[in-house]
Amino acid sequence: MLVLETKSPKETQKIAGTLAKEIANKFSDSAIVITLEGDLGSGKTTFVRGFARALGVKEKISSPTFILMKTYPLRRQGRFKHLVHIDCYRLGKPKELLHLGFRDLIKDKDGIILIEWADKIKKILPKNAVKISFRHISPNKRKVIFSPELVEIKNRGAIEAYL
Ligand code: ADP
Ligand code: MG
Repeated sequence: MLVLETKSPKETQKIAGTLAKEIANKFSDSAIVITLEGDLGSGKTTFVRGFARALGVKEKISSPTFILMKTYPLRRQGRFKHLVHIDCYRLGKPKELLHLGFRDLIKDKDGIILIEWADKIKKILPKNAVKISFRHISPNKRKVIFSPELVEIKNRGAIEAYL
């Protein structure tokens, strides 16, 4: 496990961007699924913004609390062709996501999928999903906790270099 402390939204985005670049060329025979857990305002969407921007997404990343799922094409960095941002906050049942084609989405090796409030869809998450948790410490401080699988994926040193 790797626990990082960030002191601003910008720093959180930088950590996210570093991770994005680390995995941008990773081989995978299915989608890369990253789950983001933590209370409202703990920094999940902020993290997605930094992650997407580092992969060349220019479009504004909406807070999809009102949207369940949004896909952004990736044209610049790495081998992945699209980034999918999912927010399960308002999701009733996991089934609703299955109706939107979630199974095909997670099979697609061209995709990176970032899922907020993923604990709501535990039952349908792939086993190889990697987990990042966020904790609210003080107004501008957050803890970002990477699961062991994720620490394997990326170069730990590159992320730690930002701290
Ligand atoms: P979530 O998606 O988890 O609900 P958001 O990323 O939408 O959270 O919101 C986080 C809020 O906290 C934003 O208003 C952001 O500006 C603020 N914030 C303050 N400090 C930090 C930090 N270190 N990292 C991320 N967000 C922070
Ligand atoms: Mg959010």
